[in-house]
Amino acid sequence: MMELLWLLLPVAAASGWWVARREYLDRRGATVRSADYFKGLNYLIDDKPDQAIEVFTRMADVDRDTAEMHLTLGNLFRRRGEVDRAIHIHGSLIARSNLTTDQRHRSILELGEDYLRAGLFDRAEALFQELVEQPAHMEVALSRLIHIFQQEKDWRQAIAYSDRLEQISGDSKRRQTAHFCCELAEAANARNDDAETSSWLLDALARDAGCARANLLLGRLAMRMGDHRKAIEAFQAVERQDRGYFPEAVVPLSQCYSALGCPDEWLAYLREVHERDHSGRITDTLAEWLLRLEGEEAALQFLERELREYPTLLGLRRLVDTKLARGEGAKYADLRTLQCISVQMLNSAARYRCSNCGFVVKSLHWCCPSCLQWNTIKPMSDLVMKTSG
Ligand SMILES: [Zn+2]
Repeated sequence: MMELLWLLLPVAAASGWWVARREYLDRRGATVRSADYFKGLNYLIDDKPDQAIEVFTRMADVDRDTAEMHLTLGNLFRRRGEVDRAIHIHGSLIARSNLTTDQRHRSILELGEDYLRAGLFDRAEALFQELVEQPAHMEVALSRLIHIFQQEKDWRQAIAYSDRLEQISGDSKRRQTAHFCCELAEAANARNDDAETSSWLLDALARDAGCARANLLLGRLAMRMGDHRKAIEAFQAVERQDRGYFPEAVVPLSQCYSALGCPDEWLAYLREVHERDHSGRITDTLAEWLLRLEGEEAALQFLERELREYPTLLGLRRLVDTKLARGEGAKYADLRTLQCISVQMLNSAARYRCSNCGFVVKSLHWCCPSCLQWNTIKPMSDLVMKTSG
């Protein structure tokens, strides 16, 4: 037994030396890496990013631990708007063979984000496609691809990927896919393909029963086909779906009732809507039809009563126009000035606002150009204030 112990002594000594040697090398390596790390940081602080990147890139050759630092560094550059540098860092990471699978996937994801930021959609799309089957990155990759397909107006792909994302995440994407269907319907409508237009609009309503845009388009399609009753049905549905969009249906509804020769029916419907909606568009249109069907006195009485409680710019302009048409301009010189002011204010005012980000615009956009949300830009009420009476 003692002989055996004596024999093991050199082995123990050798292994002790090996362990000590290994620890020394590790410490030395760590010291070198640490020195390089601070050197790189100093370059960054001195605003010398090129030298910093050179140092950090050299460090990546040492081992895979520095890959994390590169990922962070690349993200920092992207956030600072230096997308070229972010692409360089993330691109050089992917080229390395010593990454773990997770690091490789994260590098692909970050490089995809860089390309997206740079507007290089085809390159970003190819990278995100590599990740759609990877459970850890599936949701992000799908949502980025949906964004890309929207930018490229590839609505069919946008629908397919949104449906898949909805299945995986459990979050409803129906409001936005209904709009994608409406986009396809508008394209079919531009080709005068009525059957396909109608099919996409019904698909939109099946996805989102509250899609006012689909009914506005269905109404216009029915008008073009000469079916004014069907058009009225679709336009009236807008008021039940989302009253905020109803001002968009007022002019075509008026045209439908006129085409059918039923102005009294239109006036009755307007009165019904007016009981719950005192926006300028309704006040103005109701006054216009009162003037046509019941005369100046009825229109003026309605406007004076209405504007006292619900003052709107459109209502004011209608009141001034009606008084001027009656020849009251000679009696009240200020009426002309009031008319000019109200017309100028209406022409210069933004008519639509995004309820999500506050972006204001003069024409209706179904997708906000600022925050890219669907269905958030709506006609603005021109109600100035509501008094207690
Ligand atoms: Zn917005």
